[in-house]
Amino acid sequence: MKSANLMVMHAAALYDAGEPCGVEANATKLLAADAAAEATEDAHITFGGFGYAKEYHLERLVREALLFRIVPVTPQMLLSFIAEKALGLPKSF
Ligand SMILES: Cc1cc2nc3c(=O)[nH]c(=O)nc-3n(C[C@H](O)[C@H](O)[C@H](O)COP(=O)(O)OP(=O)(O)OC[C@H]3O[C@@H](n4cnc5c(N)ncnc54)[C@H](O)[C@@H]3O)c2cc1C
Repeated sequence: MKSANLMVMHAAALYDAGEPCGVEANATKLLAADAAAEATEDAHITFGGFGYAKEYHLERLVREALLFRIVPVTPQMLLSFIAEKALGLPKSF
């Protein structure tokens, strides 16, 4: 979660300075989506069976956090972009 936050700030600072920030923006999305999914899963486990009860809204948050691993692009797409642009690896698709 800390790495996601730091990368958000780093990418935003580059953007504000008018610098290229594609790799950082993709890394941000990757880390933040993972952090959201992990946080909601931990909350769900903490709540136990009540995590499924609609009145706690956790089941909705778990579903919605998973959405960030799909939309607007998936982790595999983000990793492909980073591999190509930051590591100089050949385009994989
Ligand atoms: C609620 C919601 C709102 C949306 N809103 C919009 C919108 O406003 N505008 C818009 O344009 N789109 C929108 N979308 C579509 C969204 O951008 C796509 O769902 C997203 O890009 C994933 O594409 P896909 O669903 O075709 O899955 P796929 O690309 O088929 O992915 C399925 C799986 O295959 C993997 N995969 C696919 N290609 C590769 C590859 N080359 N290498 C390795 N793994 C791969 C993925 O990582 C994933 O695990 C929305 C989707 C949802 C669910």
